[in-house]
Amino acid sequence: MGPAVDTVSSDTKLPERTTVVVIGGGIVGASTALFLARKGVPVVLCEKGHIAGEQSSRNWGWIINCGRDDREIPISLLSGRLWREMSELVEAEIGYRATGIARLYDTDEPISRAQAWCKRAQPMGSDARVLNSAEINSLFPGASHPFRGALYSPTDAVAEPQKATSAIANAARRFGAIVLTNCAVRSLDLTGGRISGVITERGRIQCDTVVLAAGAWSRLFCDALGVKLAQLTVQASVMRTGPVAGAPLPAGVTDRFSFRRRLDGGYTIGDPFHTIAPITPASFRLLPDFAEMLRMSWRRLTPSLSRFGTEWRHAKRRSANEPSAYEEVRVNDPDPSKSFLRKAHAQLVERFPAFKSAQILQQWAGLLDVTADSVPVISTVDKIPGLLIGTGFSGHGFTLGPGAGHVLADLAVGENPAVDITPFRVSRFWDGSRPRPEVGF
Ligand SMILES: Cc1cc2nc3c(=O)[nH]c(=O)nc-3n(C[C@H](O)[C@H](O)[C@H](O)COP(=O)(O)OP(=O)(O)OC[C@H]3O[C@@H](n4cnc5c(N)ncnc54)[C@H](O)[C@@H]3O)c2cc1C
Repeated sequence: MGPAVDTVSSDTKLPERTTVVVIGGGIVGASTALFLARKGVPVVLCEKGHIAGEQSSRNWGWIINCGRDDREIPISLLSGRLWREMSELVEAEIGYRATGIARLYDTDEPISRAQAWCKRAQPMGSDARVLNSAEINSLFPGASHPFRGALYSPTDAVAEPQKATSAIANAARRFGAIVLTNCAVRSLDLTGGRISGVITERGRIQCDTVVLAAGAWSRLFCDALGVKLAQLTVQASVMRTGPVAGAPLPAGVTDRFSFRRRLDGGYTIGDPFHTIAPITPASFRLLPDFAEMLRMSWRRLTPSLSRFGTEWRHAKRRSANEPSAYEEVRVNDPDPSKSFLRKAHAQLVERFPAFKSAQILQQWAGLLDVTADSVPVISTVDKIPGLLIGTGFSGHGFTLGPGAGHVLADLAVGENPAVDITPFRVSRFWDGSRPRPEVGF
């Protein structure tokens, strides 16, 4: 079972008409609804389960600019600014703290890549730098032996995933958005090829614009529309502990374990770089798009056939009058990989002995949506006027969510977004650009 998430009350009445329907109540959809409602635009947020039931409550809670793909740096900096103001805007405790986050290294090769990254990112506004062993020791006391270097930004921050998205959705409601939970959108209603509404499990809502922010479900939705979205999923696990005396306050990320202090004094622990890769029918279809990604990251992926049958069944076309796959699975709740977590915990204890006494309270997993080039899709769709897509956040969506919501709200009302979204156009998957992932840190 996933973590307990702050609740958001659902509106009860399905409106006949609105201006924008947002599909998906994760951080991207909730932020889009918030920024639209603030502009005074009528908006309905439809969520098939509960707000933040999937990735947006299950993540590490890192708001991290350090080491981002160059294409993501501007939207990441925009998002960082919005996060700093978020608790004031939503009038709620979301656990936002600029604790700093360090990517800790034991070898020289990633350190030189980190130095090169800082050179590129600093002119864009990043305050990231590379720390030496002495600086690391003072920020992360108690390590059994020193790290060689770290990529670090003092303004990288954390927030509580079990609070933030719910607070954003609650604020959107206060600004006038209608929020409908347990309300799956089955399909779009098109008139003359243009959006005229959505068909939900409770009936039709007329609208001019739809924002698809359906996380791991977006590809299924796009497939039904004939829009190619090169998006697959990977499964990552974390554990939550009780308070740990003497453990570091800033968050630390390494190749073998990571840790993040929570607002309740406990820690989120795991290994974010080792994930399960479900092999599904779409994996074969999208293999050419994902070949480069696979070449770069196969060592960190454990293949699994556990989702093959379910996704095969979900891919079968259904009419809008029948219950959809979105109703069949209200909340994606995969089993955590306990062996990965045990190993990550043991490696953490070996390096930071203070964690030996940590009491493990809960473990969970989440299904992350990843694109073939590991950067999101934030895009209009030429062949379906009125459709916007905000998805494929590839493990960075908690950081980028507010920025993406801000940009999607601007696009929905025909305003120029605050950042260039050309690298995030969905057409990159078929216009011959052959988008590539960047080497990660
Ligand atoms: C273990 C883990 C750790 C992570 N750590 C970090 C981190 O530290 N920092 C970071 O930046 N990112 C992190 N991420 C990634 C981040 O959580 C995601 O990128 C982000 O939450 C995606 O937000 P989203 O709104 O796009 O999708 P989601 O949160 O998945 O929300 C999509 C929502 O759409 C709903 N939906 C789908 N289809 C329909 C439909 N047809 N009708 C109605 N509703 C529908 C779903 O029920 C779901 O609630 C992590 C992810 C995981 C799993």
